[in-house]
Amino acid sequence: AKEIHELLDEYPIVNEIQLKHWEWIASYYMCTLGEVVRSALPSAFLLESETLVLRNTEYEIDENELLDDEFLVFEALQHQAILKVQEVSSIIDRKNVLPILQRLLEKKVIVLKEEVYDQYKPKLVRYVKLGAEHTSDEKLEELLNSLTRAPKQSQVVLSLFQLQGKSQNPIKVSELEKSSNSSKAVIKSLVDKGILEEYFIKTDRVNYDGDPDNSDTKDLNEYQEIALLDIKTSFKANKVTLLKGVTSSGKTEVYVKLIEECLEKGLQALYLLPEIALTTQLIGRLQEYFGEKIAIYHSKYNVQERVEVWQNVLQAKPKAQLVIGARSAMYLPFSKLGLVIVDEEHESSFKQFDPAPRYHARDAAIVLGHLHKASILLGSATPSVESYYNVQTGKYGYAEITRRYGNVLMPEMELVDIKEASRKRKMKGHFSERLFMEIEETLKEGAQIILFQNRRGFAPLMECLTCGHTPQCPNCDVSLTYHQYRNQLRCHYCGHHTALPEICFACGSPDLDTKGFGTEQIEKEVSALFPEAKVGRMDLDTTRGKHGYEKIITAFEQHELDILVGTQMITKGLDFRNVNLVGVMNADSLLNFPDYRAHERTYQLLTQVSGRAGRTKKRGRVVIQTYNPYHQILKQVTTSDYEGMYTEQLYEREQFKYPPVNRIIKVTFKHKNYNVLNEAADWFAGALRTNFGGTVLGPEYPPVARIRNQYLKHIVIKVQKVHSLAQTKANIRRIEKSFKAVAMYRSVRVIYNVDHI
Ligand code: ADP
Ligand code: ZN
Ligand code: ZN
Repeated sequence: AKEIHELLDEYPIVNEIQLKHWEWIASYYMCTLGEVVRSALPSAFLLESETLVLRNTEYEIDENELLDDEFLVFEALQHQAILKVQEVSSIIDRKNVLPILQRLLEKKVIVLKEEVYDQYKPKLVRYVKLGAEHTSDEKLEELLNSLTRAPKQSQVVLSLFQLQGKSQNPIKVSELEKSSNSSKAVIKSLVDKGILEEYFIKTDRVNYDGDPDNSDTKDLNEYQEIALLDIKTSFKANKVTLLKGVTSSGKTEVYVKLIEECLEKGLQALYLLPEIALTTQLIGRLQEYFGEKIAIYHSKYNVQERVEVWQNVLQAKPKAQLVIGARSAMYLPFSKLGLVIVDEEHESSFKQFDPAPRYHARDAAIVLGHLHKASILLGSATPSVESYYNVQTGKYGYAEITRRYGNVLMPEMELVDIKEASRKRKMKGHFSERLFMEIEETLKEGAQIILFQNRRGFAPLMECLTCGHTPQCPNCDVSLTYHQYRNQLRCHYCGHHTALPEICFACGSPDLDTKGFGTEQIEKEVSALFPEAKVGRMDLDTTRGKHGYEKIITAFEQHELDILVGTQMITKGLDFRNVNLVGVMNADSLLNFPDYRAHERTYQLLTQVSGRAGRTKKRGRVVIQTYNPYHQILKQVTTSDYEGMYTEQLYEREQFKYPPVNRIIKVTFKHKNYNVLNEAADWFAGALRTNFGGTVLGPEYPPVARIRNQYLKHIVIKVQKVHSLAQTKANIRRIEKSFKAVAMYRSVRVIYNVDHI
């Protein structure tokens, strides 16, 4: 037996239901329990590959005390003062350097870079209070008299006196600053004089700006009311329930009623959303009703904030009765979950691709809900084929809202043939005459416009007009994307970037041109075509950082921008009041995606983006530009024919044995040596074929067959009977074991994706 050195937690930080849930995730998504725990616990992020480490210069180090591997890191940091964790890893050529770094941190040999490190310290907020000796009326007067020549200081004293009232409680410096209309410096000088007492108080990082007023929830209209009743009936039958409600039908208000009921019963509620839909907009709306009972949890929160939410949920603090979050929120230590809502359930961003666990948060949240015996609601205007299939087969319950709230009409949609328009030379840049006119008119009306283009950057390709060469990423088998703003070519897979070449790498010709177009180019064109309009852009490049997308959304909301150009980010659950026109620059790039879900996604994306138009009074308009105006999916979008889309897609899935009719597992192989990879994948596929003769496709190269200098190959396994899925996985695992026993294959990475590939 070993001695216990220290008790880190007074109570377990993980509960039994979580462990069960995590075991399910590991087994279902074919990864290790360790990988699940790592992704679930916020502390696992303490040292992530991007964290910066540097030598602790304030500390004398006896090199002899370092272990060999520690010394390697120490040496690396002598040469380069500051390194990312992943760089340390490659310099000392070790896969997992985290334990080494952890030891070095404990020995104080290294520190994390300050900005990063700061996040782990509790947040202290400055408070001040008037010294007790000054608070009687005559003493105060005396004090004020002594300050007659410092009017700013006397104003601060007066304000503070009023704010404190009889309570004698310290007041936040920021609050005092505001109410006395003075500065931190003035307050500081009073502290220095000993007139004010200063306090530092530890506070929650996750603070709410708004005043939660716990206002009453809205009365539902009859359509919402019926949907609510249907949902409750279905809940009574213990069924996962799908709410299909057209965009702007008021699904959120229905959720609010269910949440309210759940919290009244003293149970916790989990509300999952795609990351991007987690904006101040929605949170503000919910805070009106639930105030401080809300906890928010998503990846843009730092570790300390996440730990705080974790603790609040764990202790079932009233503060965290309603958790709103992106997919990782389902990992929190709920003790008595009564309701799980997955909004925008069709969203592909619920699926985590890298690293393991490669789970789908909607599906995993359903399992979590079952473990808690909670009610489970999925919501969408354009449900996934899977969920709708489950409704059709009777597995899920169903409710719908077919009208927008407040008798607002669905937008009017129009397809514009850009092939025809270019033939007739009726294009201004990438704008058809039709779209151009609509923009002009909408601007005249003083309304706002959203322009959707599914590609970021300026142009996807840069092409040599002499030899046709397009610059490729040296690390990935993909062409580099041209970003005009930084005058760079960038790889969207590995981040590699290089200055714009002046001559062709291949033939030296200076005649280079761009091909295709992205958001950046649209932004530029539209600004040139409508110089009086204020144009903003929302894509991965403009929304980095914690409040990146919030800023743009708020600016658009407050009509500081007339036109917002964006990628699919702008399609998600945003409720803008004044948008009357949505333009889709080119629908075809969506349709041509090599994926069996491409058509379903196109339908969803275009319907969602169209749903941003005309959410109030005036009927909105949507102009979709395409080379294929007769494409079935586009017709289904413009006629809001979800059923038609579903029936056709389901037929195709049946024909080609795809989910939801069949189950599917994708095995990806990764290796830096091309030949080893090919042999390994062939070996694995052969073993699969002899072992269960089911449908094994491949191995094949994916569209981008090399990323970060690793070659890739896929095998796809289609499993026909749902109940044999577990059996199939067990078989695959067995094959993997013999595979890893072959020395040459040991270094080949094998990655599984289940259901969502
Ligand atoms: P969805 O989530 O279905 O797209 P929202 O919940 O965003 O729709 O509702 C659209 C708009 O209608 C919102 O601005 C919302 O405040 C308003 N709304 C919805 N239901 C009600 C209601 N019962 N009473 C008042 N306003 C409502
Ligand atoms: Zn060339
Ligand atoms: Zn690359």
